[in-house]
Amino acid sequence: MNNIIDSHMHIAFRELYPSYFINGIIEEMSINIKASNEKKMLERIIRGVLSDKWAEKQILEMDRANISKSILLAADLFDDRDYASFKYLNEFYLDIFNKHKDRFYLFLGINPKRDNEAFKMMEEYIYTNDISGIKLYPPTGFELDYERLYPIYDLCQKKNMPILVHVGKSLNNMKMDFNHIAALKKITSKFDRLKVILGHAGILYLDNYAKLAQSNKNIYLDISGFQKMISDRSNLYNIFGKAFYLLPEQLLFASDWPMFSLNLSLEDTVKYVQEVSEYFLYDSKQVFYRNIASVLGGNN
Ligand SMILES: [Zn+2]
Repeated sequence: MNNIIDSHMHIAFRELYPSYFINGIIEEMSINIKASNEKKMLERIIRGVLSDKWAEKQILEMDRANISKSILLAADLFDDRDYASFKYLNEFYLDIFNKHKDRFYLFLGINPKRDNEAFKMMEEYIYTNDISGIKLYPPTGFELDYERLYPIYDLCQKKNMPILVHVGKSLNNMKMDFNHIAALKKITSKFDRLKVILGHAGILYLDNYAKLAQSNKNIYLDISGFQKMISDRSNLYNIFGKAFYLLPEQLLFASDWPMFSLNLSLEDTVKYVQEVSEYFLYDSKQVFYRNIASVLGGNN
């Protein structure tokens, strides 16, 4: 098999993430570790994972997993007054993307609480590069019907570019009280051709979003995050079975690499989805390729 697209990846380089975010991840992963030397070891491992500045290891891992292309997502997690980091983040991603267009699609990132200068910059990036979509990360403090997002939704709809939204859990000290369902209903009725990918919703939050997606074919669910349930085998099988049955054409293969690479390697992530698809007699070409090809439409 070689037509596999991973719909959710990041560049594993520490300078693309603010330190509060990296420290928060280390903190939460080591919550059950008591010995301080083991904590230090975990910290070293995570910092080691985040040293793939030129995406070389990422491409090697994609090769090993038979992934032909992946979507790079630039997540704007920085302070919304920090314009330099916003520019650095998006231009770093643009640089890697422009060097490896045969392997990547690119979704740029913006925190909508930024000022007009950032919005103007984002428009310029979109008009001067082959950007495939926009990544939004609401836990930095906004809901999806925040009005400053409307020009972005409008532009995405005009250019047939999807948005990918992180849904569900984030770090404990970030915004968590959301009503995404109501906000999504509102924006998708206003922008009725806008395509929305809900990151992590395919397996981890299937029960929350399946009904909404069934009623709106422009909403897609990525399956990333299931790796952390890998030891709960029978439960995970049940959820996959339900997802294949309810939303066969709206599920997207996604790893969120490097986020869950300590739970399951990229190669095993692909193998697992292949195996569970076969078990349920589900055509894996849909989750691996066809569904995302239809999201990207004319852009791929
Ligand atoms: Zn992610």
